[in-house]
Formats: sequence, C-alpha cells, structure tokens
Amino acid sequence: MFQPRPSRKIYLGNVAIGGDAPVSIQSMTNTHALDVPGTIAQIDRLTKAGCQIIRVAVDDYKTAENLKAICQTSTIPVIADIQFDAHSAILAIKNGAAGVRINPGLFHDENALKMLAKTAIDHNTVIRVGANGGSIGTAEIKERIAKGATHDDAIASALFEATLTQCKKLESLGVYNIKAAVKSSNIAITLKANYLLAQNSDYPLHLGITEAGTPNCGIVKSSCGIGAMLLSGIGNTIRVSLTADPEEEVLCAKRILESCGLRLAKPEIISCPTCGRTEIDLVNLVDKVEKLISKVKSSGKDLNIKKIAVMGCPVNGPGEAKDADIGLAGTRSGKIVLFKSGNVIGAYDITEGLNLLEIELNKSIIL
Ligand code: SF4
Repeated sequence: MFQPRPSRKIYLGNVAIGGDAPVSIQSMTNTHALDVPGTIAQIDRLTKAGCQIIRVAVDDYKTAENLKAICQTSTIPVIADIQFDAHSAILAIKNGAAGVRINPGLFHDENALKMLAKTAIDHNTVIRVGANGGSIGTAEIKERIAKGATHDDAIASALFEATLTQCKKLESLGVYNIKAAVKSSNIAITLKANYLLAQNSDYPLHLGITEAGTPNCGIVKSSCGIGAMLLSGIGNTIRVSLTADPEEEVLCAKRILESCGLRLAKPEIISCPTCGRTEIDLVNLVDKVEKLISKVKSSGKDLNIKKIAVMGCPVNGPGEAKDADIGLAGTRSGKIVLFKSGNVIGAYDITEGLNLLEIELNKSIIL
C-alpha cells in the first residue's frame, strides 16, 4: 500500500482535510448564485449523491451577498469561487463561506491579499490557492522554454511557483488554513505540478483534471489523473470536472476513491468482460444484481459482503472469482450457478438464482 504524503490538517467547516482525514469529495454548482432556490436545490441533490464540499461561483458583490442564504441552508461547507475580487471574497466570508478560492494567476493586489488574509483569520476560513493552466501567461511559458524547459515542464513549474508563492505570502500574513490546487487539462502537466507542490510544501492538496470534457472522455481522463496521484499518496480532496450534471462528477469521484481503495465499495461488484463461452445476457444480469444490492441497502444498512462476482460461464467464472464472497455464473443451458468463495452451491434458473442471492444479501446485513 502507498504511503500517504504527510500534510497539515485543516478544517473546512466540519470537514477535515489533510493529515489523517479521509479524502473528501467536492463538486461545483452550475446554477447561478443569484438563483438562490435553484442553487440550494442543486446542493441538496449533490449532498444526497455524496458530495461533501460544494463550490459556488461568486463573480461580484451581488452574488457574494446572495451567498448568505445559500450558506445558511447548505448542510455541507460552501466555498466561494472568487478568482480575483477581494471585496467579494471578504463579503463571502462574512456571509458564511467556509472557504474561498483565489487564483494566483489573477489575484495580484497585495493590499487586497492582506485584507483577505485578515478576514480569513478572523473567521477561521480556509483559503484555497488554485491555479490552472489557463491562468499562466504565454510570455512566461515561452521564457521558461527559452531557458531549456520542455513545454510541459514550463507550464507545470509556472503553476507550481505561482501557487507556492501565493501560499507563502498568505502564510507570512498569518494564514494557516491553506489548501493548494494546481490543475491543467493535460494529465502529465497536472501530475508534474502536483508532485512539485507535494515535495515542497505540507499544504493539503485539492486534486482534479480541469476541463476534462464530457463524461465519455472526462471520466477516463479524471480517473487516470486523479487515480495516479492518489495512488502515489498525494491528494486530500478531489473534484472531477465534467461537462455534465455535477451529480455525475460526484458519482465518478466516489468510484475513483473506491477503485483506489480509499473508500469501501459496499459491496464491490466484479464482472467478467464476457467471451465466446458466454451463453447468457451478462449485462442484464449485472444490472439486476446492482439493483438487488441497492434494494437490500435501501434501508441504509451495511452488508458483511465485500465482493460479489457476476461471471459469464461456470467453467472459469467461479475459479477466476474465488476471492469473491459470493457470485453468480451463467451456464450453457441459460441457467446460473450460485457460488460462494469459489465453491458452486447449485444451478438455478435466473429468477430463482437472484432470489437466493437476495436471501444471502439479507442474511449479511450488519445489524
Ligand atoms: Fe469468458 Fe467465462 Fe472468463 Fe467470462 S468468466 S470471460 S465467460 S471464460
């Protein structure tokens, strides 16, 4: 197992980030903050989906004013995504934002930074310093390339330095609750910039691949990038950025954490890719098993079963999935066999086999 990178522990509202805290899931609303009921409704849906921290775009004083009602209603901490306007950031903090995000590529006013730092300290607010590839100037990248850096290294080092410099400025102003993020739509650049931050600071890191695209590509891209960083031991909170309903971001983030072993999938379903030996509709069978688990777990109870296998054939299925607690495998005659820890219990028609699986799942409910 990888060693988690040591990082300082901070609290964003009631959510611990860094130190020994579990990696948390963030998303961002795509409603306008002036639409208070719509934004609150979306936060509620995202919270139910598993989102633990929500970011809201705050572009001016008016939206910062509106944040009060949103922060008062949200059951999860709200981060005001400010980019550069210190006055809006300060008002957002006074209106209950547990965190503000500023962009070092856009936030250059030293006096404004001082005012923001003081307000954040007074309200115990977290400041996320978050840079992304788009906020680094072309001239700076060219200059680094002229000095011998590769294109990727030029952007990664510029992202790292801009972020670290602003974090250090905040620290010199007395701010401790700092979270850092460096993102690019390019996985390699994002990894390089994050590894530099990880090696040169103890700030908790917020991970993501920015502008990852539609779910079709973005889920794969985010899983590769965020997964690689998590598995190397860095990252304390994640956001999957998709051109989609933010609920999809939260579901993808949950699956990334489960796949990296940072959250228990309850229970994990494994299924084979099917091959010429498959004689049943395995896609349909897996779908039915997923629905069965949701039904059994709808009471909110956990199951004492860690892994369920759904395999295409009885020749290799039970053996290939012998580490599963329980499983189903299709047969040539269209039936399914039920097996436990690799041992076949019996062959049944599909409805009967699913009923028996349901009985086993119910028996495994942790009371
Ligand atoms: Fe093919 Fe059977 Fe393996 Fe599935 S379990 S891939 S059907 S051999």
